[in-house]
Amino acid sequence: MTDKNIKEIEDLIKIIAKLPGLGPKSAKRIVLKLINNREELIRPLTNTLAQVYKNVVRCKVCGNLKSINSNCICSSKKYDQICVVENIADMWVIQGSGIYKGHYHILGGTLPSFEGKNSGNGLLIESLVNRVKKNSIKEVILATSASIEGETTSHYISDSLKDTKVKITRLAKGVPVGGEIEYLDDGTLHSAFKNRASIS
Ligand SMILES: [Zn+2]
Repeated sequence: MTDKNIKEIEDLIKIIAKLPGLGPKSAKRIVLKLINNREELIRPLTNTLAQVYKNVVRCKVCGNLKSINSNCICSSKKYDQICVVENIADMWVIQGSGIYKGHYHILGGTLPSFEGKNSGNGLLIESLVNRVKKNSIKEVILATSASIEGETTSHYISDSLKDTKVKITRLAKGVPVGGEIEYLDDGTLHSAFKNRASIS
């Protein structure tokens, strides 16, 4: 269906093919669907994307998504537990499981395993330490993945929190080695949370 002469279409296919789970073939199908539904799909999609681009940002304190016009949920003082995850997808999985209803801290990735003790590599680790110090946080639950990078990150964080009195726990080893939180089933996640062990 692609007319090589229409640059806009080619560009759109290239962009959509970059989305997770999609390749050039499915991107073409999506673009065709969009073009055939200009008013029902293209117009609202254009508006919504523009709104998201303009109004949704990552909070510089906790890494969560927030509306540019309102305070982030992390600025509330009424919580004493923080669950540390690598990314937003992990948070959504834990939220969906219903096992944990407290606050989150989204690092934005992991430390490379070979780097060890370094500056934190652009992850929101320093801001986690500040959050723990400023609020009366009683427990930090490390829910980074069981990969080498996840372990390195977890060690680095517990090291950074050493001077605070906070209790640090790590999800139990039910998490398969190299396993990412995002792909865990609810049962494994529940037992990993329930059997989390103190490492501080
Ligand atoms: Zn925040």
